[in-house]
Amino acid sequence: MSKTLFSKIIDGEIPGDFVYRDDRIVAIRDIGPKAPTHILIIPVKPLRGVDAASAEDQALLGDLLLVGARLARELGLEEAGYRLVINVGADGGQTVPHLHVHLLGGRALGWPPG
Ligand code: AMP
Repeated sequence: MSKTLFSKIIDGEIPGDFVYRDDRIVAIRDIGPKAPTHILIIPVKPLRGVDAASAEDQALLGDLLLVGARLARELGLEEAGYRLVINVGADGGQTVPHLHVHLLGGRALGWPPG
């Protein structure tokens, strides 16, 4: 299986603007931000998407959200609010087949999405 874009960033083969890193999870700034703050929280494990996760990934899935909430707090988004989003598949708008959570904030975000 060929390496995903995000695995290449995690491994330093492609540059990434890291805002968080531990042995299981990284967070980078999105290259095409859709809000003033747009961060991707990514597991080092290259799951295709949340649809490819299983019970053994339960703690990892929870930790992705906890890292997102912690970053939002640290970046001062908590009071105004923010959004954590997981896109899945074509209709969900997923373009990179490596699970990631979007952290979006810094402006009022529309709902429902277009
Ligand atoms: P999704 O469409 O949910 O799969 O999200 C993929 C995201 O990855 C998009 O918001 C892209 O802007 C972002 N992206 C693509 N290439 C890079 C890159 N090299 N560095 C950071 N973010 C990227």
